[in-house]
Amino acid sequence: MPDRSAPIIKNFPHLLHGGDYNPEQWIRTPQVWDEDFRLMKLAGVNTITIGVFSWTMLEPEEGRFEFGWMDAIFDKAERDHVQVILATPGGARPGWMAQKYPEVLRVDEFGRRQKWGGRHNHCFTAPAYRRRCQSINAKLAERYKDRPNLAMWHVNNEYSGECHCDLCHSAFRGWLRRRYNDDLDALNHAWWNTFWARTITDWSQIDPPSKIGEGAVHGHNIDWKRFCTDQHIDCFNAEAEPLRRVTPSLPITTNFMGVFNELDYYKFAKALDVVSWDSYPSYHDRPNDWLNAVTVSFLHSQRRAMLDKPFLMMESAPGMQNYKPVCKIKRPGLHVVEGLQAIAHGSDSVQYFQWRKGRGGLEKFHGAVVDHFASEDNRVFREVAELGAAMARLDDVAGAPSHADVALIYDYENHWAIDNTKGPRNVGKNYQETCVAHYRPFWSNGVNVDVIGADEPFDGYKLLIAPMLYMIRPGVAERIEQFVRAGGTFVTTYFSGVVNETDLCFTNGFPGPLRELMGVRAEETDTLYDEESVAILPAKGNRAGLSGKYAARQFCDVIHAEGAKVLASYGGEYYKGQPALTVNKAGAGSAYYVASRNDARFHADFYGQLIDQLDLTRALGAKLPDGVTAVERGDFVFVLGFNRSAVTIDFGRSTFTDALNGRRLKGKLRLPRYSALVLRRPVESSANSTNARRKSLSRR
Ligand SMILES: [Zn+2]
Repeated sequence: MPDRSAPIIKNFPHLLHGGDYNPEQWIRTPQVWDEDFRLMKLAGVNTITIGVFSWTMLEPEEGRFEFGWMDAIFDKAERDHVQVILATPGGARPGWMAQKYPEVLRVDEFGRRQKWGGRHNHCFTAPAYRRRCQSINAKLAERYKDRPNLAMWHVNNEYSGECHCDLCHSAFRGWLRRRYNDDLDALNHAWWNTFWARTITDWSQIDPPSKIGEGAVHGHNIDWKRFCTDQHIDCFNAEAEPLRRVTPSLPITTNFMGVFNELDYYKFAKALDVVSWDSYPSYHDRPNDWLNAVTVSFLHSQRRAMLDKPFLMMESAPGMQNYKPVCKIKRPGLHVVEGLQAIAHGSDSVQYFQWRKGRGGLEKFHGAVVDHFASEDNRVFREVAELGAAMARLDDVAGAPSHADVALIYDYENHWAIDNTKGPRNVGKNYQETCVAHYRPFWSNGVNVDVIGADEPFDGYKLLIAPMLYMIRPGVAERIEQFVRAGGTFVTTYFSGVVNETDLCFTNGFPGPLRELMGVRAEETDTLYDEESVAILPAKGNRAGLSGKYAARQFCDVIHAEGAKVLASYGGEYYKGQPALTVNKAGAGSAYYVASRNDARFHADFYGQLIDQLDLTRALGAKLPDGVTAVERGDFVFVLGFNRSAVTIDFGRSTFTDALNGRRLKGKLRLPRYSALVLRRPVESSANSTNARRKSLSRR
């Protein structure tokens, strides 16, 4: 297990509780600020993020700065021992900039330059935008660098989107020339441009993909997305430059979003000191809330693994999220569980957007800590204060490491390629949802998983899972093979090993560079209509934990075993009797091919067996009820219940201390609706507990 990390804020070894604070919205009534700080104390807030959207209030005209209100907030925060995460304001530009430097305005794919308004709509290439960002960022750094409560930097906000202006066109062409070593022939081959007479004869013919131009060249589309990620990172680095120069010891982050795949966040994370992200799940939109919670855990597991250290949950809403189709209020109790869920998976913070609801603006109904009727006497505030009090008792969790025996590959470039390609199914490809479906059995068994990109290292894991690994970039198959030969267990699925890094199909039989390792050849990929299914019949005596009959839907690879052992077969269609699940031995390890998109029961049985066989670390020895997970972090185990009614957990012979109230816990315990426990292993018996939880238990 990696060592405990240093506190994210130097000399502040606590979990961070707070959020985006926008006092400039109340500049006409500064008495509100004093009320805010009174309420922050009651809510257990120790950190605020200021300045995210403050540019015009800080620089009302170019070169004229007004820092008085921000100075006052720094003073009040310092008085109350509140740390300040200082944001740079690039996420929303002032009007004067658009008038004076129109090139900062983004151009859409139809060539239309956008008017001033909204946010997150700057041209990420325009030197005028970058220079203005650097100017104000340098001013902020110089002014506040000696403040003892300046904790870290939050650059810009939720980077996203693309720009089609001439500056970006030109930057894209330059990026391509570097990528293809100035060899247009290499680019034409990589993009398969002889199809439909697309051959490019001069670099100047290349534009970004668009609806009014080229949009059907897959390599082109993927390279454009790669460029956009690189250009966002380049812009971020330009914005961060004055901060790094003036305050070299302060960590820098930018806030990622949740289910968002436009940018390659693995690549972006490497430019950050700390990963942070904004979590806004859609709870209560289906009967089982815990299925939403699985996706949230998946995202936390990914964000933690990005830099293999604690991250920050930079935004969340304790109440309503006002941009969902139906903005159902988060049910009582859920907020506290959600907060502890983030911490369990490696977050060192629970932060909100925003602290106080504004009277106007698009997000005036978005769930804040302080409501329009500002008072501690409301349910949301009480829940925030309850979480704040709990977090204050969990100092030892801050910086605590997480360990995972399992890595699951969710890869952004692969996601782009799958969404981009035509066929074998053009609706319901559901790459990310499929990755979450393969993650779910581990969630249900309390087994930690790292969600990683295909270029991340695989060593140290016992089990590596790569659902729908359609794109295999150079080196990836070789590293998977090394992992297996060294004793690892690898699982991949249908629609894997199909194309290379520019979306050109492999011609050595699918799954391409994995064919020999998997010991199978996929001859065809059949896809079904949503209401159709094909039975999966386990082989007698299979050792894959399978029994009875399972249902495959949507994707069915028709495969031939070429040395792999068949563990299950199709029970219908023209491929009846052909393999549906195989395993191949290679070196000291095994490689499983799951040929179809299977039901949840298949995943539960199949992965349940692997958890036992591979002796994967479970956070708790106890069998967990549906809707409950257990997550281990350092010496702590977080038991998180997302059910709408109470459930019982049997701890068996293991004994724990309730980290929040010091009680000893053993035997059967009732977990009320939407509730959580934070357990601490008694130090003297932690070795025994570890052995106990490693023991195989009846599967879910
Ligand atoms: Zn541009």
